[in-house]
Order: sequence, then C-alpha cells, then structure tokens
Amino acid sequence: ATMPPLLSAIANAGRHGVLVKSAVVMERIGQVDAVALDKTGTLTEGSPRVTDVRPLPGSRLDEGELLTLAAAAERPSEHPLARAIVDAAREQGLDLPEAQDFTSAPGVGVTAVVDGRAVAVGAPARLTDDALDGVAELEESGRTAVLVVVDGTPAGLLGIADRPRPDAAATVAALTTLTGAAPTLLTGDNPRAAAHLAAETGIDDVRAGLLPQDKLAAVQEMASAGRKVLVVGDGVNDAPALAAAHTGIAMGRAGSDLALETADAVIVRDELAAVPATVALSRRARRLVV
Ligand code: ADP
Ligand code: MG
Repeated sequence: ATMPPLLSAIANAGRHGVLVKSAVVMERIGQVDAVALDKTGTLTEGSPRVTDVRPLPGSRLDEGELLTLAAAAERPSEHPLARAIVDAAREQGLDLPEAQDFTSAPGVGVTAVVDGRAVAVGAPARLTDDALDGVAELEESGRTAVLVVVDGTPAGLLGIADRPRPDAAATVAALTTLTGAAPTLLTGDNPRAAAHLAAETGIDDVRAGLLPQDKLAAVQEMASAGRKVLVVGDGVNDAPALAAAHTGIAMGRAGSDLALETADAVIVRDELAAVPATVALSRRARRLVV
C-alpha cells in the first residue's frame, strides 16, 4: 500500500530533522500565514559565551568572586545564559559552592543563596531601577548584559555574546516568501541586542523585553487579526506562545522540556532551515490529499 500523503510528509519532515507529532499537525503547518520567532536559542545558536566580567565601581568583589557567585546561583538553571556563565566559571577553574533556595523567573533571571549571600542574576532592567554604567555599551554591541545583585546591591555586570545561526537569515527570507509576510521577532532580551540581531537576519518587526505572557499576548493579537501564526521557540518563556500558536515548533537540541512538550513539532537537529522546509512539505501533502 502507498502511504497517505500526510504520513509520507511526516516521514520526509523526519529526514529534515523535524519530529511532527501528528498528521493533524502536519496538515496545519502548511496553513500558517504569519511567523513569530524567538531570539535566544532559536535565531541564535544558543551557545552564548561570557565576554566580559565587570565588578561595578564600589563593589568589593573581584572578577573571580563575581563570576563564582553568579555561576553558583545559575547552576540549577537550564537557560542558555546560565550555561554560559557556569561554563565560564569552570574554564577559569573556579570552585562553585552549592546554591540554596534556587528560584527562576522566565524572562527575568534567577535567585539563590550562595555562601550565605543572597544572589540575583538576570536582566538589569528587571532587577534594578538604577541606570548602570556599561549596560548600554554592552547591549549596543549586540551582547546581553546580565546584572549580578549581591545582598540587594548591584555588584557587577556580565557581557554575554551569542551568534546568529548560520541559516537564520536564509530561514527568515524563506519564511517571508512562503507566508507572504516577514516574521516578527519576540524576545525577552533587551531592545538594543534584539535590534542588532534583527538587522543581521533581515527582520524589521521587533518586540523586545517581553515576559512569557507578553509573547503570548503578541501571538494572540496576531491571531485575532485573522492570522494563522507559526511560533518557533526553545525556552520555558516560549511555552505559552507555543501553546497559543496555530502551530508551535520547538528547537529540540537545547530546548527546555516544557517547550518540547508544548510544541506541535520539534526540530531535533539544530537546523532552522527545516522550518520552511516543513511548511513546504505540508503544503505539498495537502495538495495531494485534496
Ligand atoms: P529570549 O526571549 O530571547 O529567548 P529569554 O526570555 O529567555 O530570552 O530571556 C530574556 C532575558 O531575561 C535575558 O536576556 C536575560 O536578561 C534574562 N534572563 C532570563 N533567564 C536568565 C538567567 N537564567 N540568567 C540570567 N538572565 C536571565
Ligand atoms: Mg529562547
């Protein structure tokens, strides 16, 4: 017997490294006419590296102490920025004390108690009202500035750099052709770093500084304007938007468990170009079904 077109399409998508969870999903992917893309870990490689470790003036911590506290607090987190910070500490041979009372807030950062000190690590704009020297400079160069707060006082900044995926710009172009509309960038990162990445990948519509519920609201707004929205994301912070999407696709390799469970399809190899390929496969299969 020949395979029904949607099942062959699922098998083909599998060859592109996309796990499509059902025939219904395979059919829906081809219906999308708008795309919302996450930034960190989706358009970027998600293997960011710490480029700067800067104690703030007046802080009594040196660079090693600052990085130790930040990395110890971040160790339980699965966020790509957390992995970058822990890796940087390991590379410097720093001993990481055990963290207690770990909490994490998607789109904000983490808190923990390290060696009896209350440590918070995360987005500067979410952790303090003060304008800190150095934040704008780091962000204008496309880096993410991460603030480390110790016992309630801003103690230092980390600069973290991530590269766009090699196929990010081509994927944006292919999705624009397929849907007739340029994708929207939805990110929790700061507007300056977001604009930098958007310019590199050919995106005009950028919404930055978003919390998970803001990403959800953006997708709902597109949907209520009559669009069938494809959402691609990797993080816990993308889960509500993935759930609300016409079709949600998660980046599988480094994606969070929640994103993988919530999404309708998972990119198991790290190729973003598999997204437009799967949209095209779905459209072909649907023509055969009809
Ligand atoms: P994106 O939407 O681009 O994937 P996220 O929503 O995951 O970005 O993160 C948004 C911002 O929240 C980050 O740029 C960072 O400032 C902060 N943040 C989130 N999680 C962490 C963490 N574990 N450590 C440090 N900062 C974090
Ligand atoms: Mg992400």
